[in-house]
Amino acid sequence: MKIILFGPPGVGKGTQAKLLLEEFHCPHISTGDLLREAVKNQTPLGVKARSFMDAGNLVPDDVVIGLIEEVLQSDQAKDSFILDGFPRTLPQAKALDALFERLDIKLDRVISLEVDPEEIIRRLDQRRLCKACGHIYPLDLLKGGDRCLHCGGELHQREDDKPATVRRRLDVYQQQTRPLIEYYRSTDRLATVNGMNEIGYVHKMILDLLYRDGTHV
Ligand code: AMP
Repeated sequence: MKIILFGPPGVGKGTQAKLLLEEFHCPHISTGDLLREAVKNQTPLGVKARSFMDAGNLVPDDVVIGLIEEVLQSDQAKDSFILDGFPRTLPQAKALDALFERLDIKLDRVISLEVDPEEIIRRLDQRRLCKACGHIYPLDLLKGGDRCLHCGGELHQREDDKPATVRRRLDVYQQQTRPLIEYYRSTDRLATVNGMNEIGYVHKMILDLLYRDGTHV
């Protein structure tokens, strides 16, 4: 299974990717996660990316394309992967197609999750992450608690999930990322899923789609 999970920030790509992993055990490649790890470890890549991320802007294409080339050329992503948060611009999408051709990889599907912008702002404002295990929660699920329900770790809000930065991220999505829907539709690789539904139901719709396509193996 080789798929791209596509959509604006906060649409549920990361959550759906984790549910798919429980089923298919394939590599989950999230450029956001890779960049946050690089920032945390203060690598040259992280130092370069940080100011863009903090401002809610995209990290330059050459940086993220280089990162994805490295990961996709590794053995772990040879047979299957879930790409999450990449591509986000037309040059990234074209570079990815060129890389697929070079590595003889056939992409199965681009699954575009769709959610109303007001719901995205609400979800991101509510989103909390466990510092220890990375689990993601909506605030209301915690019922006033402030520790991870899985491992008891400390929870925090991502700096770029604060409302002012979220608005910038949504603008960037509209201007630079949303046009990719047409790019993938015109090459017959796009499927859309309504992300307004409950998490389990969205997961089921994605599975139905993959089984129907025959891309579940
Ligand atoms: P995410 O966790 O996917 O929302 O990504 C967090 C931040 O990382 C984004 O707001 C961007 O600053 C940066 N980022 C992640 N993926 C990309 C990408 N494909 N292109 C450019 N910047 C990215």
